[in-house]
Amino acid sequence: MIDNETNLDSYGSAYRIIRDIELFEGRYFILSEEIFNEFSLKTKDSPEIKGNAIIAHDLDESQQTSNEVRDLSELESFHEKIKGCLRCELGGKRKKFVFGSGKDNSDIMFIGEAPGEEEDRTGKPFVGAAGELLTKIIEAMHLKRDDVYICNILKCRPPNNRDPRNSEIASCEPYLVKQIELVKPKVICALGRFAAQTLLGSNESMGRLRLNSHSFQGIPVVATYHPAALLRNPQWKRPTWEDMKKVRRLCDGVEL
Ligand code: SF4
Repeated sequence: MIDNETNLDSYGSAYRIIRDIELFEGRYFILSEEIFNEFSLKTKDSPEIKGNAIIAHDLDESQQTSNEVRDLSELESFHEKIKGCLRCELGGKRKKFVFGSGKDNSDIMFIGEAPGEEEDRTGKPFVGAAGELLTKIIEAMHLKRDDVYICNILKCRPPNNRDPRNSEIASCEPYLVKQIELVKPKVICALGRFAAQTLLGSNESMGRLRLNSHSFQGIPVVATYHPAALLRNPQWKRPTWEDMKKVRRLCDGVEL
């Protein structure tokens, strides 16, 4: 829903807003009268209007057809819709868009910071040395990597693995929120400071975050060290394992 205060500079910005709403709320939604009137300037690509509802066209009709033929899951369809994203400058620099991998409706969702060089090259999250360590941690929990869902806050690699900028996180976070809504995990494990601070809206250090209980939209969140940090600081492996046992207990519905 868009309120009447929304400032529309042009038809183009109105159309971008419509496309964003369509991504997150589906193809049918209600518009304010102000925005509705903007669409009196219909063009070939403008949405179809029915009463006071707008039906946005898909980004690419050939893509829609292929989605229907392949019977994509909701998560896969969402991936297809956003994989060409250029909302922030990282979009123009990526080799591959790194959406996420694993079981669509997994009970456990691991969320890291951003793709690195290897992830950017392969389009898969958590590959390379840190990814191998994460796989070992998951297996130590008596799970397979395919049993869980793994993704990052950012879907595109920051150059030279620099820290994500606030504006990039703000642009990309809605995608993560939608992913969480679609996966519906029982527990989220935030890997590293950026993931934990972003999900929890906090500026606290990892040392403090991992000692407390948290939740995101009602889902328990366990904050722990990023596997790449464990490679540099092996003394953090023991506390990380304690955090993983907490993840496992929350997943199994055990009261903490
Ligand atoms: S990092 Fe996120 S917001 Fe930025 S271009 Fe990539 S997908 Fe889009």
